Amino acid sequence: MNIFNLTFPLTVDFSGGKYWINGEGPYLCGEATTAFLAGEIRCEPTGNTSQLTQELETVLKTFGNHLSPFSQKQKTTDDLYQQLEQSAAACSVNYAFLPLQGSVILAERYTFPTLRDFLYVELGRAILHGNAPRQCRLCGGWFLHKQGDRAIYCERIAPRETEKTCREMGARMVFEKKIQDEDTWKLYKRAYKKYYARYMKGNMSEAAFKAWGEQAAADRDAAIEQLRATTDAALSASIIQQLKEKLNQL
Ligand SMILES: [Zn+2]
Repeated sequence: MNIFNLTFPLTVDFSGGKYWINGEGPYLCGEATTAFLAGEIRCEPTGNTSQLTQELETVLKTFGNHLSPFSQKQKTTDDLYQQLEQSAAACSVNYAFLPLQGSVILAERYTFPTLRDFLYVELGRAILHGNAPRQCRLCGGWFLHKQGDRAIYCERIAPRETEKTCREMGARMVFEKKIQDEDTWKLYKRAYKKYYARYMKGNMSEAAFKAWGEQAAADRDAAIEQLRATTDAALSASIIQQLKEKLNQL
């Protein structure tokens, strides 16, 4: 049995942030919940998946919000704090020696009656160890964020791409945004030098130079905001072109 095909009741051996199912593994805590949220788990008997999805998201929001799981900002909720008793997982626990490739470890052996009980504990342990499901900032799909990794994009093929993954596209987008920010600042500095020289030579009044400076800074910041909000290359180019014209229209 593996985490994509589960039959209940299910016996799971936990040790720290890892676990084994019938000697198969190790799986990292959070892997099963991530697979479930991504719709990749089949389980017998099947329960109410949409209700369970909602419940796991509440657990994640309540206890794991510091791991920034959601692509869209979600308010933290105290729903779960108010009904902690109902949220308890049912399971029995004993201890067992687990033989693993020549060595033996002491494991906590849990037996879970339902998928909900297993995932509640699996997700809770994941959060305790700093792992948690995270939504890709590009495609919205769930992937496992491992303790200390800073990935915000998954490794699936990105939307409208045939080979490039979200992670590769994301890295390129960050890079392109940085270049665009730099271009915007370059345009602003170049225009500033031009009008400052004009003012120093007495060809522009102090009041006019000051007014230009205020407007230019506002136009620059507005352009940066607009650039951050789009991934469209043609629109980005036209925002930069418009800024250039605005900065130099005097
Ligand atoms: Zn993705």
